[in-house]
Amino acid sequence: MTKKEKNFCKKPFSVWDIVIYIVFTVFVIISVIFVFIGEKGNTVEIYLDGKHLYSFELSTDRVIELEHNTVVIENGEVYISYADCPNKICLNSPPVSKAGRSISCLPNKLIVYISGDSDYDAVIGGGL
Ligand SMILES: [Zn+2]
Repeated sequence: MTKKEKNFCKKPFSVWDIVIYIVFTVFVIISVIFVFIGEKGNTVEIYLDGKHLYSFELSTDRVIELEHNTVVIENGEVYISYADCPNKICLNSPPVSKAGRSISCLPNKLIVYISGDSDYDAVIGGGL
C-alpha cells in the first residue's frame, strides 16, 4: 500500500463524499424541476395531414386560421374555435394546456399537440 492510499483510507469521510452528495442532491432537484416544467408544456405543435406545419409558444395568445379549422391559443390553453367538419367533435373538445395532450379533427386530418420544452429547437419547421 502506498503512502497516498494509506492517507485516503484513514479518512472516514472524505471531501469527495460531500461533493458527490451535493451533486446528487442538485441532480434530484433539477430532475424534479424538469418534470414539473414538462407537465406544464409550452409549445403548441400543429400537424395537418401528417405534416408538421407550425410551432407556437403556449404562453403567447394567438389565433391560427387554417383552411378548415381555427385554432386559438389563449391564457396558456389551446382549443379549436371553428371547424367545418361534419361531426364537430373537435369543437366540443375541452381546451388543453399540458404536454402530451392533444386535440384532433380527424375529418380534416388536423392534430394540435402540446410538447414539452425539450425539443424547442424544431420551431417553425415545415410550412404550407
Ligand atoms: Zn373537427
